[in-house]
Amino acid sequence: MIYYRHGSRDENKIALTFDDGPNPPITLEILDILDDYDVKANFFVLGKWVKNHPAVLRDMYKRGHLIGNHGYGHDINNQGFEANQEIIFNTIGEQPLFCRPPYCYLEALKVASHCELVTSLKLKLITFDVDPDDNHMPGSDVIFKKVIGACQNGSIIDLHDSSEKPEEQASRPLEMLEALPLIIKSLKEKFEIVRLDQMSLVPIEFKEDSL
Ligand SMILES: [Zn+2]
Repeated sequence: MIYYRHGSRDENKIALTFDDGPNPPITLEILDILDDYDVKANFFVLGKWVKNHPAVLRDMYKRGHLIGNHGYGHDINNQGFEANQEIIFNTIGEQPLFCRPPYCYLEALKVASHCELVTSLKLKLITFDVDPDDNHMPGSDVIFKKVIGACQNGSIIDLHDSSEKPEEQASRPLEMLEALPLIIKSLKEKFEIVRLDQMSLVPIEFKEDSL
């Protein structure tokens, strides 16, 4: 099984990824920040939230961002890639080409039926190599420093514009949101911020002990 956790280390391209949305109004605030800095990003959305906010997904798509599949309900055992693929297609008229398993738990995909499904949907599996742990709310300054300290050529940065838990949706992304303009401003000085389909992704063979 092949997956991708970063792009080429020889190109100064990096990718911002946001998981667990769409989540208005926070996702819309992120879209405005991205527009302000003329940056395209990547959103790994959950089917259960797309169902509630199809207009936000269309907005993300129309503004030129890449839409990826993060499963339907953020459930490791019942990932729902197929159901999410369908709801995304019905909303924006395009099939996602990238997916990120819930919790990035690739081990669950070793179940043959899951692996075959990802293959049959022609989805590229994406994890990340920069994790500022924004979902645990360590403080906006810590999030900023972790991203800037860890980012290198080809990095894929994992951020969250939402949560799989409804009670966390309004609060969990706030520190990241505060840090985001500064993160983008600093990264743009050294890197080109791109969509995953504009990077030379480096394939990695997934083995049981490789995470
Ligand atoms: Zn997630």
